[in-house]
Amino acid sequence: MAFVDENFGINVFNDSVMRQRLPKETYKTLHKTIDEGRRLDPQVASVVANAMKDWALERGATHYTHWFQPLNSVTAEKHDAFITPVDGGRVIQEFSGKELVRGEADASSLPSGGLRSTFEARGYTAWDPTSYAFIKEHVLCIPTAYCSYGGEALDKKTPLLRSMEALNRQAVRILKLFGRLDATRVTPTVGPEQEYFLIEKSLYDRRSDLIFAGRTLFGAPAPKGQELGDHFFGTIKTRVQAFMTELNEELWKVGVLAKTEHNETAPAQHEMAPIHSIVNVACDHNQLTMEIMKKVARRHGLHCLLSEKPFAGVNGSGKHNNWSMSTNTGYNLLEPGDSPHESAQFLLFLTAVIKAVDDYQDLLRASVASAGNDHRLGGCEAPPAVISIFLGDELTEILEALEAGSIYNGREKTDMTIGVHMLPKFPKDTTDRNRTSPFAFTGNKFEFRSLGSSDSISDANVVLNTIVAESLRQFADELENAADFRSALHDLIVRTIHDHKRIIFNGNNYTDEWLKEAEKRGLSRLDSTVDALPCYTSEKNIRLFETHKVLSETELRSRRDIGLDSYAKIIAIEANTMIMMTRRQILPAVLRFTGDIAAASRNIRDIGVDCASGTELVSSLSAYTDQLSRDLQRLESVVGARPAGDDPLADARYMHGTVLPAMTDLRKSADTLEKLTDRSYWPFPTYDELLFSI
Ligand code: ADP
Ligand code: MG
Repeated sequence: MAFVDENFGINVFNDSVMRQRLPKETYKTLHKTIDEGRRLDPQVASVVANAMKDWALERGATHYTHWFQPLNSVTAEKHDAFITPVDGGRVIQEFSGKELVRGEADASSLPSGGLRSTFEARGYTAWDPTSYAFIKEHVLCIPTAYCSYGGEALDKKTPLLRSMEALNRQAVRILKLFGRLDATRVTPTVGPEQEYFLIEKSLYDRRSDLIFAGRTLFGAPAPKGQELGDHFFGTIKTRVQAFMTELNEELWKVGVLAKTEHNETAPAQHEMAPIHSIVNVACDHNQLTMEIMKKVARRHGLHCLLSEKPFAGVNGSGKHNNWSMSTNTGYNLLEPGDSPHESAQFLLFLTAVIKAVDDYQDLLRASVASAGNDHRLGGCEAPPAVISIFLGDELTEILEALEAGSIYNGREKTDMTIGVHMLPKFPKDTTDRNRTSPFAFTGNKFEFRSLGSSDSISDANVVLNTIVAESLRQFADELENAADFRSALHDLIVRTIHDHKRIIFNGNNYTDEWLKEAEKRGLSRLDSTVDALPCYTSEKNIRLFETHKVLSETELRSRRDIGLDSYAKIIAIEANTMIMMTRRQILPAVLRFTGDIAAASRNIRDIGVDCASGTELVSSLSAYTDQLSRDLQRLESVVGARPAGDDPLADARYMHGTVLPAMTDLRKSADTLEKLTDRSYWPFPTYDELLFSI
């Protein structure tokens, strides 16, 4: 039998396993709980727990863990064995409903942003039954939400689940108005495309910057970069293919729908895209994907870099977050549809997204803010820090015609009243798809392209779900009270287009002209993480999250502070790594080389030959080395002068405004020296080796 037939989901306690192993009634109740997003009955939980344990033991598991996603974008797990002691020095293997549904984790070292003091270090974990349990290396992993003693969210799953609920609540109101009573639940669907780099592990091991910062902090460009465009979709090298094959197999075993694999733009860069699923599962699976990528790479003598900008001068890595909304009856709400009625409904959901993105540009930007992503956004390889929407010419023309109340596309004169016409089919895979847009409509979904490659997709989707829920809430409030639904709908759509069309931009987002134009349109521009993160706690945004019960003001503050704090910490680690590499590797190497050239020149002169090139090289090496040394001292002094204090914003601002520029200067001097120095003296592998050796 083929690998997939035999192994897909083999390590997942999925629906078919549940149906097989649970008593009929339990299965039905559990299913209902999952479908309706309800709380699980304790009795049902204990039956499920027991079946889950038996299944896990048969599959070789010895431990279980509440697998959760703390606020620092990784996954956390603490393993507990199933054993319980009984008489006679023996043990039995047990797992109760209580243990399944709710665990208690002492996680005092995980970031809480002031939500939890260490004397109250307990956190509570609660099973998310909509995301299947799975086995990972002898451990039964239970996807879990994580809260403080007081019930505040300390993780990335809790607000995601809450935001799904918020979107569901409002979307169902709208569907009711359209008479769609069969659709009782709406869930956001997401397919996150994951970019990454693969490099030789032995080279990775020799670069402290890759080890400590996940990205190169030094490095002159290789003679060849990505200018030939010969890597994107190119033939996949044998070793990389072996990695991809094993990656797929490992992902399939834990139920991840790994679908597409290809080479990306930069040398050594690749991508994996799964088939979309409900967003909390997509998020769990993406976390799992990143973890498995790293592990599988090791087995192939490779290292997988997930950092947003591992190498200067070539493209960095992101995640494309394909997002839509789907009903429990299987209908995609961003699908234009086959009847005038469906077209009207599509236009309403479409304009809800347009309005949401325009109203909350700042939040979308903040949701992708990180130290790593700052190097990528706006670097002519990823969308700029200005959020706009690409709709494509055809759909834009339709909206313009609707607004003007006139004909579409110069065809025969038609009245553009909503609900009368069927929309034409939009091309889903046209080649003119605008790859520069941060937020592009791609036929039946939106693709948010600004996410960083190493980040959890949770933050971006929490924001997306919540802001669209807010548009829909306003729409539903208006339409539910309308005397004539059809004409109110028409007016609402036309007004929304009129009020929010400034966010639509179909041109090239990478140009300076666009940035000027965006400024004229009054779009928000938040260039760095320190500019973006404070948006979380603006009055308008607190109101949004509180209205939809997604995040409280305290939770928002904690998230903002944790983001700023990790930003500052990352820059500090990078600066210290640069200092270490310069003092202990670059400076000594360059001085040794300069000394050897000086000695060689002297030897040459001793036999009566004037060695002008030697003198020249020694003097330029000396001059650049002096510059390097000054830059180093400057970086050391600004790092040393980092003000103490407990204001995370002030700290992050200092790191951004003072430390980062000093790092840039130091790098420049070091890269210049690299180009002048004999390769055999250079203390670590260079870009040409890192990018081209596989
Ligand atoms: P491209 O690289 O051209 O954007 P890919 O095939 O790599 O295309 O990725 C497209 C992604 O969009 C896939 O993950 C796919 O499952 C996802 N997708 C398709 N339909 C939907 C939808 N309705 N909701 C969310 N994601 C979707
Ligand atoms: Mg894409």
